[in-house]
Amino acid sequence: MNRYTGKAWDEHFLPRLSRKQIAELDKENALVVLPVAAIEQHGPHLPTYTDTLINETMLTCAFEALPEGAPVWLIPPLAYGKSTEHLGIPGTLTLSATTLMAVLLDIAKSLRASGFRKLAFYNTHGGNIDLLNMMAREIRIETGLAVFQVQFDKEADPEVVRREPLIDIHGGDVETSLILASREHWVDMSEAPDEIPNLPASPTLQFKNKAFAWVMDDLSESGICGNAKLASVALGRHLYERGGKAMAAALMELVSFDMAGLRKKGH
Ligand SMILES: [Zn+2]
Repeated sequence: MNRYTGKAWDEHFLPRLSRKQIAELDKENALVVLPVAAIEQHGPHLPTYTDTLINETMLTCAFEALPEGAPVWLIPPLAYGKSTEHLGIPGTLTLSATTLMAVLLDIAKSLRASGFRKLAFYNTHGGNIDLLNMMAREIRIETGLAVFQVQFDKEADPEVVRREPLIDIHGGDVETSLILASREHWVDMSEAPDEIPNLPASPTLQFKNKAFAWVMDDLSESGICGNAKLASVALGRHLYERGGKAMAAALMELVSFDMAGLRKKGH
């Protein structure tokens, strides 16, 4: 991907427009997409820019799949996220939770002041999820914007399920494949780890339910959770292709979604 080319980073890139052009946009259903990612260690084989690069590449694919003239606008990625679970590992550049909350609210307020009504987060970092869930509602309350979250559900992909039945949350098969398909020369496969933590089977201690708080050092020596040795360019391409199309369809649904239609009439 070259910066500032293609549908995502040229045609639909909101800040390429002038104040006059933005003032004249029809904002009734226009959707603004704010990418949220992270800069953090992803093991010895992947760039610290992994989550941001995946985010940008997926959006590139999604915007290419949008219908002509779709009122969907992209603003620059928030590359810095909340990566406190990787703090102290070289290369991790994190915002604190309170800083990220304030930045998100300020961006949302600015969009509202420019006349926009709809905002969607596209997040590619697990450590941002809880904060974004909370901030989506805070922004709704503070600004009146309709706030959405679009995500790429890798676990719904049959190819991922087939290849990686074990836990693959960070720097493993999926993320390594996505970087291979995007910037192969940013990956050192000779260093790719295979490290899956010893997670408890007890229903009381379910990892996915966040029954215990963890930092990356609690789970992994190499800094990854998954098997990066399985990664391939082909899997990465498949995921971008499928994910991009699914996201384009989801974005168009958000464009036509009417919040006012949620309430039943006459009650
Ligand atoms: Zn990641």
